[in-house]
Amino acid sequence: MAGGTLRMMLQDRRAIVTGAATGIGRATSLRLARVGAHVVVNYRGSDAEADDVVAQIRDAGGQALAVQADISREGDVAELFAASADAFGGPADLLVNNAGIESRHPLLELELDDWQQVLDVNLTGPFLCSRAFARALVAADAPGAIVNVSSVHEEIPWPGFAHYCASKGGMKLFTGTIARELAPHRIRVTSVAPGAIRTPINQELIDDPDKRADVERQIPWGRMGEPEEIAAAIAWLASDEASYVTGTTLFVDGGMTQYPGVT
Ligand code: NAD
Repeated sequence: MAGGTLRMMLQDRRAIVTGAATGIGRATSLRLARVGAHVVVNYRGSDAEADDVVAQIRDAGGQALAVQADISREGDVAELFAASADAFGGPADLLVNNAGIESRHPLLELELDDWQQVLDVNLTGPFLCSRAFARALVAADAPGAIVNVSSVHEEIPWPGFAHYCASKGGMKLFTGTIARELAPHRIRVTSVAPGAIRTPINQELIDDPDKRADVERQIPWGRMGEPEEIAAAIAWLASDEASYVTGTTLFVDGGMTQYPGVT
C-alpha cells in the first residue's frame, strides 16, 4: 500500500495509544505520527521512555503528548481522555488498546492477585478506554476506529498463561460485540493478533538463544516479528483503507497460528 495513501487517510487523526512508551505501542505511536496523526502517548511508570517517543515525533515535525495513566483504573482513564480532548481540541477518533502484561503461573500456582492483575490491565483496561472513547465520539456524532492489540493466544492455548489467554480470548469477543454495537455510530473495532515479537515483554526469550530458537521453530516464517511490523498493520486497520473491516482479528504472526509444530 502506498505510504502516500495512508498519509492522506491518517492526516490529522487524533490517536490515543495505550502503553505507548515501549515495544509495539512505541512503534505504533511513531508510525501513526509519521503518517500524519496527532498522538497521545499513554504510559505508566517512569517518564523517560514516553518523553523520548514524544521528542522523536516532535523532532520529525509531528504533534504528540505524553499522558501518564494506569488504564486499569477508571479515574485514570477519565483523566487520560480529558487530557487528550484538551490537547486535541475535541475527542480522539482513533484508540489503540495496546497496553498489556503477562506473567508465567501454571494454574496450580496461579494466585488470585496474579489472575486479577492480568485481567485488569489486558481486558478491563480496553473496556474502560473503549467506553470512554465511544461515549465521546457518539456524543460528537463523529466516526472513528478502535484497534485492540490481542495475541495469537486469543486462539492458541498456552500452558502457564491461563490468565493471559483468558484476557486475550475475552478480547476477541469483546471486539466482535462492541463492533456490532458501534457500527451504527460509524466506529469500527478490530484486533491485531501478534505472534512472537521482539519487545521488552519477551526480553528473557530474546536474551536466551536456545529458548529463542525453540520459539522460532514454531514460526513458519522462521524469525520473531519486529514491533514495526505490528505497527504497520495497526496503521492500516486504523485508516479508511480498511473502511469495510470491523469485528475481526488480523493475525500478524509469521504463520504461527498455522500450527507448524503439528506434523
Ligand atoms: P511491552 O511490555 O513493551 O509493552 C507493554 C506496555 O504496556 C508497557 O509500556 C507497559 O508499561 C504498559 N502498561 C502495562 N500496564 C499498564 C497500565 N496498567 N496502564 C498503562 N500502560 C501499561 O510489550 P509489547 O510486546 O509491546 O506489548 C504490547 C501488547 O502486545 C500487549 O497487549 C501484549 O499482550 C501484546 N502482544 C505482544 C506480543 C509479543 O510477542 N511482544 C505478542 C502478542 C501480543
